[in-house]
Amino acid sequence: DEARAAGDELPPLAGVPLAMKDNLNLVGTRTTCASRMLETYQSPYTATCVQRLLDAGCLPLGKANMDEFAFGSSTENSAFHRTCNPWDTERVPGGSSGGSAAAVAAGMATVSLGSDTGGSIRQPAAFCGVVGMKPTYGVVSRYGVTAFGSSLDQVGPFARTVRDLALTMNGLTAGGHDPNDGTSHDADVDHLAHLEDGVSGGRVGIVPALMEAEGLTPEVKHSVEEAASRLERAGAEIVEVHLDHLDAAIAAYYVVGPAEAFSNLARFDGVRYGYQEPGCTSLAEQTARSRAHGFGTEAKRRQLLGAYLLSSGVYDRYYYAAQKARTMIARDYEEAFKQVDVILLPPSPRTAFKFGELSDPTQMYLSDMYTISLNIVGNPGISVPTGLGVDTGLPVGIQLQGPAFGDADLLRYARAVERAFAGESGEPALSVAPDFAGKGGELA
Ligand code: GLN
Repeated sequence: DEARAAGDELPPLAGVPLAMKDNLNLVGTRTTCASRMLETYQSPYTATCVQRLLDAGCLPLGKANMDEFAFGSSTENSAFHRTCNPWDTERVPGGSSGGSAAAVAAGMATVSLGSDTGGSIRQPAAFCGVVGMKPTYGVVSRYGVTAFGSSLDQVGPFARTVRDLALTMNGLTAGGHDPNDGTSHDADVDHLAHLEDGVSGGRVGIVPALMEAEGLTPEVKHSVEEAASRLERAGAEIVEVHLDHLDAAIAAYYVVGPAEAFSNLARFDGVRYGYQEPGCTSLAEQTARSRAHGFGTEAKRRQLLGAYLLSSGVYDRYYYAAQKARTMIARDYEEAFKQVDVILLPPSPRTAFKFGELSDPTQMYLSDMYTISLNIVGNPGISVPTGLGVDTGLPVGIQLQGPAFGDADLLRYARAVERAFAGESGEPALSVAPDFAGKGGELA
């Protein structure tokens, strides 16, 4: 307001309220990763992604709840808080970026940041009825983002409209390559430039095997089919494509992810970082007891799995095999993107579940079947809400996946889906969750 009153030139996101997942460092705040291990940890510096949005004018509201160290799909693994789905507070918001998705769906924040290692932006966006995007690996700097799986992690935004999301992408990528992140790319393009250009003459891929997968609920399937026919009406051609090795994606992810997590989380030993158990008489005891107290069940499970997978004798059988599967899946995608511009698929097999409903970790892992393959290959993906499910009355939506560095083009397709499901005056299919309506606003 002061800058405006003074007649200063305003940055593109001036005054936009921003929430961020609590694995992103912002100097002067705690960055807990929703873990007792980091309960009192003070951010020593600010993550590049956060800094770029602050430079673009965003106002940081605060940190958003998450699954501990981003392990999970429901935010139930947080050591501190419960995050409810704003559409039905008896249900989970999805995860692991559940707090960031819920904050936007409830109108508490206009945009937010999450991280997506295997679906943690796209799945909670779908559960909460907001737009959420995982950019191409490297497009957003990982400097200052607490690592889970370094070859899979990517930060991205949540918003209520595709346009808000594209504006935020512009903020995140302004300045291009970040010298502090060796994997960061120069992706400083205008994500708004072709947003309204439509999809006439474009080609949208459908993967038949994914549409027949076990566990896909009829209402989610219906929303994807409906999106396909509306995109067709908007001038796109629907083409069948095949991703033959996709059935290996979950297995490959649950080898690579835990292996990298085990390596990344070794630093939380009560000496270098994290909670330190008092009264220990040896370093070994202190490490063991600090880690036993600091980590929750899922974080321990992942690290034990990762330690085993990387141990000698076992390494070749699993880690090496997972890397091979990764290459095969990447080739499948490369072939598919020779035929189509984007692939249309569900973001999750079902709508938001109730707290405690998925108590078996394997069932929880399988709920990521539509998102995980993308992190394996590094390509961009986005969840777009299409309305409320006919069976559950909860938000449903679709996912679009694109070729590497096709982020701006992906947003153009997402905008076409949003427009195809918009109300008569052009408002998106879903707005702020009913009980929270009127308590927040959208960007102009
Ligand atoms: N749900 C997946 C997991 O538990 C993905 C998490 C994520 O993307 N951070 O690993």
